[in-house]
Amino acid sequence: MNIKNLFNEKEVVFSFEIFPPKQESKIDIIYNTLEELKDLKPDFISVTYGAGGSLSKNMTCEISSVVKKKYGIEALAHLTCINSTKTQVDYILNNLKESGIENILALRGDIPSNYDGISEFNYASDLISHIKKRNDFNIVGACYPEGHLNTVDLDTEFKILKKKQDSGATHLISQLFFDNEYFYNFLDKTNEYNIDIPIQAGIMPVINTKQIKRIVSLCGAKLPKKFIKIMNKYEYNPEALRDAGIAYAIEQIIDLISSGVDGVHLYTMNNAYVAKRISTNIFSILDTINNCEKVIN
Ligand code: FAD
Repeated sequence: MNIKNLFNEKEVVFSFEIFPPKQESKIDIIYNTLEELKDLKPDFISVTYGAGGSLSKNMTCEISSVVKKKYGIEALAHLTCINSTKTQVDYILNNLKESGIENILALRGDIPSNYDGISEFNYASDLISHIKKRNDFNIVGACYPEGHLNTVDLDTEFKILKKKQDSGATHLISQLFFDNEYFYNFLDKTNEYNIDIPIQAGIMPVINTKQIKRIVSLCGAKLPKKFIKIMNKYEYNPEALRDAGIAYAIEQIIDLISSGVDGVHLYTMNNAYVAKRISTNIFSILDTINNCEKVIN
């Protein structure tokens, strides 16, 4: 199924992101996680590509295929292009097609330390145009409500997003953020640049302090005062910190849903327990909203 259709059918599209284990021998770990996630019936599950190290790249196609065929949940396979040749990219695209995958999140990927500046693909929009030519896949792109770490200026960033849309992306998924105001300001700006494809908000529940430090160093997301206070208060109480992290994510999502966002993409970090607690809360709220709308109509 082409996941772009979900945005016409659903009030709010709710999806999960998982990542392959670093070693192929540990693939069972992700299948155990999926066993638990499947009952939550997300609208789709995305599978990262090489985010935890290049060894895991081979598993993206296999896991996406299991998500779709075994669990009957639509899959979105991530694919990065920097430092890859067209032949390498086509090989992966052929594998994805043969495995029945219909949706790809087309990314540049982070610049590797050994990168010599010469690549057949320099930016995500190059990959989007390349995939579009084949006419085989629905294409999704990434966006950054607080700006990408390499951003020169925000005007350029929005022009680049418009280019992703014009090259064939049918929806965007955002980088994680902890302050919804950044996302709302970002949405206002996308209107100014005529970006009108659906945009899903990326939310990551933070459940331990090590994770927070890593995330901030990797993507530069700013931490609001309220968030820092909570994290400091429960620094030495892991259970309380986990519960506070879950509560914070739920509060963020409720606010986003109330503000009419197109969708929410939950970075599950392969933690089925956390995903379950958040989803159960969100689904009951979504049910209430849907019932209220039925009564009003
Ligand atoms: P681009 O859109 O190409 O942007 C990269 C930088 O180049 C930006 O600073 C942009 O302003 C600039 N730029 C883009 N086009 C041009 C142009 N034409 N001219 C000049 N400058 C330009 N990484 C992984 O390795 N694996 C994953 O599975 C993965 N999944 C992700 C999922 C989401 C939802 C997000 C938000 C990120 C993900 N990433 C993943 C991280 C991503 O690969 C990095 O953030 C990467 O640095 C940028 O990728 P991009 O596709 O956004 O690149």
